[in-house]
Amino acid sequence: MTLSRGDHFDTVVVGLGAMGSACLLQLARRGQRVLGLDRYDPPHSWGSSHGGTRLTRCAVGEGEAYVPLVTRSHEIWRELEAETGAELLTQCGMLIVDGASSAASYHGKGDFLGRTVAAAERFAIPHEVLDAAGVMRRFPQLRLCGDEVAYFEPGGGYIRPEACVEAQLSLARRHGAAVRTGTRVARIERDDGGVCVVTEDGDRFHAAEAVLAAGAWSAGFAGALAPHLSVTRQVFHWFEPQDPAAFAPDRFPPFIWVHGDGPEDNFYGFPILPGEEGMKVGTEQHLLTTPDPDQLRREIAASEAEALFRDHLQGRLPGLLPRALHSIACIYTNTPDGDFLITRAPENDRVLLVSACSGHGFKHSAGLGEAVAQLLTTSAAPSLTMFDAVRLDAAADALVPP
Ligand SMILES: Cc1cc2nc3c(=O)[nH]c(=O)nc-3n(C[C@H](O)[C@H](O)[C@H](O)COP(=O)(O)OP(=O)(O)OC[C@H]3O[C@@H](n4cnc5c(N)ncnc54)[C@H](O)[C@@H]3O)c2cc1C
Repeated sequence: MTLSRGDHFDTVVVGLGAMGSACLLQLARRGQRVLGLDRYDPPHSWGSSHGGTRLTRCAVGEGEAYVPLVTRSHEIWRELEAETGAELLTQCGMLIVDGASSAASYHGKGDFLGRTVAAAERFAIPHEVLDAAGVMRRFPQLRLCGDEVAYFEPGGGYIRPEACVEAQLSLARRHGAAVRTGTRVARIERDDGGVCVVTEDGDRFHAAEAVLAAGAWSAGFAGALAPHLSVTRQVFHWFEPQDPAAFAPDRFPPFIWVHGDGPEDNFYGFPILPGEEGMKVGTEQHLLTTPDPDQLRREIAASEAEALFRDHLQGRLPGLLPRALHSIACIYTNTPDGDFLITRAPENDRVLLVSACSGHGFKHSAGLGEAVAQLLTTSAAPSLTMFDAVRLDAAADALVPP
């Protein structure tokens, strides 16, 4: 589609990462005249959707309300694989190990393992609960203490984020969507019952609605909601294995391992993918926020990999050498309760803010894109009200002394 200044669309999608590309495709599939804009050229490494892999599982300890979203996302990725030939979802099984002394919290939710098992039982998701000996029999690459409990979901696995974004954008184009990359949106104005999306170059695109899926940059457009969003720098490292074959996807699962009661006493890892040399592992940090994502520190000090090895890997994955082959930085956009923020902008109800954030959004993104498209095009849309800002405003108000 050729773009002209002053073009009018049904919806303009700002930001074409995990969320924006999913929304754009699903809106285009429903016959909408849509435009997608991104300041970079997705998939890229400046936001939250890079690094080769993301964990997925259907029993979601972050909350049972997420289960239908991830289940639908798995179906959509299979459909996209059939349409594009791309490899998006690998269901090689996924493991969660809980070795905390009390029921540990992860992604802001207490008793994460218990909640995961409860979700699996409620939704009849095939799974096994294993003790430490059972885990080590199956996966001798892991060395547990003996008192851990683990959850294994055979249908869990990993997703390829860059390939998902690319597949969604190429199919959206096939369905008539206009896509303009290298285009930074400066602001979204009110415009005669709709919106006018204004770029930094001064182009103005008119639409009935806008979807704001700017990831870590969302706060700059979120007005009164901005204080609910904080950005944290996260890092992945690829560690050298002694025997790469022992960590291949058919012998070793993606995993989350919670080994203490503190919010950062956990790490996660992936099997070594074909063509890769190192095993990707990461942990989470919640203490240091970055007020401006453009100022996020991209360089990674050798001491960061050393600390990860010392605090998390040493003694637990004896087949890994203490040498990171390479490392990259990535960004979490966080809400205070760890849940997503999908809500009308307070200053302009024609703008839908869509942020699948707090470090667990990718696995839900395809299903969320479909739900957002249903919300904007039909009256029979699934409810996304659990992600509305009302809950955060109410929690913040409760903290203000009368
Ligand atoms: C280290 C790490 C590990 C993670 N692990 C998992 C996991 O295992 N499982 C899981 O489910 N999730 C995981 N997540 C979370 C998941 O990756 C994110 O929730 C998801 O990628 C967020 O997608 P997004 O579309 O909101 O942001 P992004 O993909 O970053 O997209 C935002 C887009 O907006 C564009 N943009 C910003 N400002 C503008 C502007 N002014 N004009 C135009 N375009 C703009 C950006 O260029 C970018 O392309 C992880 C995240 C990180 C960082």
